[in-house]
Amino acid sequence: MTDAQGRIIDYMRISITDRCNLRCKYCMPDDLPSVCHHSILRYEEILRICAAAVGLGIRNFRVTGGEPLVRRGFLDFLTKLKQLPGAESVSITTNGVLLEPYLDDLAAMGLDGINISLDTLNPQTYRELTGTDALDAVLSSIHKAVVANLRVKLNCVPLLGINDRELPEIAALAQTLPVDVRFIELMPTEAGRPFRPVPGERVRNILRERYPDLRPVTEWRGSGPARYEQSDSLLGRIGYIDALTGHFCRACNRIRLTGEGFLKLCLYHDAGISLRELVRSGATVEELQQVMAAAIESKPEHHYFGDAGMQGGIGNMSRIGG
Ligand code: SAM
Ligand code: SF4
Repeated sequence: MTDAQGRIIDYMRISITDRCNLRCKYCMPDDLPSVCHHSILRYEEILRICAAAVGLGIRNFRVTGGEPLVRRGFLDFLTKLKQLPGAESVSITTNGVLLEPYLDDLAAMGLDGINISLDTLNPQTYRELTGTDALDAVLSSIHKAVVANLRVKLNCVPLLGINDRELPEIAALAQTLPVDVRFIELMPTEAGRPFRPVPGERVRNILRERYPDLRPVTEWRGSGPARYEQSDSLLGRIGYIDALTGHFCRACNRIRLTGEGFLKLCLYHDAGISLRELVRSGATVEELQQVMAAAIESKPEHHYFGDAGMQGGIGNMSRIGG
């Protein structure tokens, strides 16, 4: 459907859990309390909301978390979502640690893509940043996902003084593997605030030293916040999500559903509506559609990064799903 700004909204990110097997320091503080199980939507409830979304023209879904792979039954849920009449694409975003044993099943159910988060290639930095010694498992998942013919994108958040020296090495994964490597500007969430971001423009300059022929992908017609570049030396593309310095709100095509059933209309804005009571009170798909359509119509024109007055702040990304 189209919102009041004339933007086509056709994509929903769904967080199926706030829980995670890692504790990336810029995402999720050690002492973050978990949401109680009863407050998290059941899979059937999420699927009913997705059925309503499809009727509104939202046909592309990304399942995230927390870590989506820690929630029991995720494979069955993804399969049902993929089979939902009218759903066009279903992808996941994962830290990749638990991914490998599921790859064949994910390929078989027709998963359209996997985004795997990878901020460092240094085992010690990985351990310090995530609290877990799991870099080898992630790298193995990435290689096997490619072998399983899945479409893979890697997400890296550049952090000054932590992984900024490694960025060319991380980008070079697109040299040996047919994967897109994307650099996401750190957002000032509660956990993210103590870290220092590397602006996208700086990342581009660093990478151009290694790949001087990097140039914008001209035929790229995708929607969403990433801007892609290509180089003759690379099998995959390099993407930049300039969450802070970029101005992509005019092209925004997405809404988010949190694990607790809040329909979040903009990543960095309070606007939205809880669908949980509605879906639990037995609302029909049509009734859900009416409420969702009215909310989406009023999607904020732009985000409020940097606005100290935003009520409640953004919270932490593990609750929203990135
Ligand atoms: N656990 C999964 C993963 O790590 O891919 C999915 C959820 S995680 C919240 C989704 C993405 O959000 C990850 O790529 C992570 O790096 C990113 N993220 C978390 N906190 C962030 C922040 N403050 N700024 C920018 N990206 C952030
Ligand atoms: Fe977990 Fe993903 Fe957040 Fe890391 S970025 S703590 S893996 S939710």
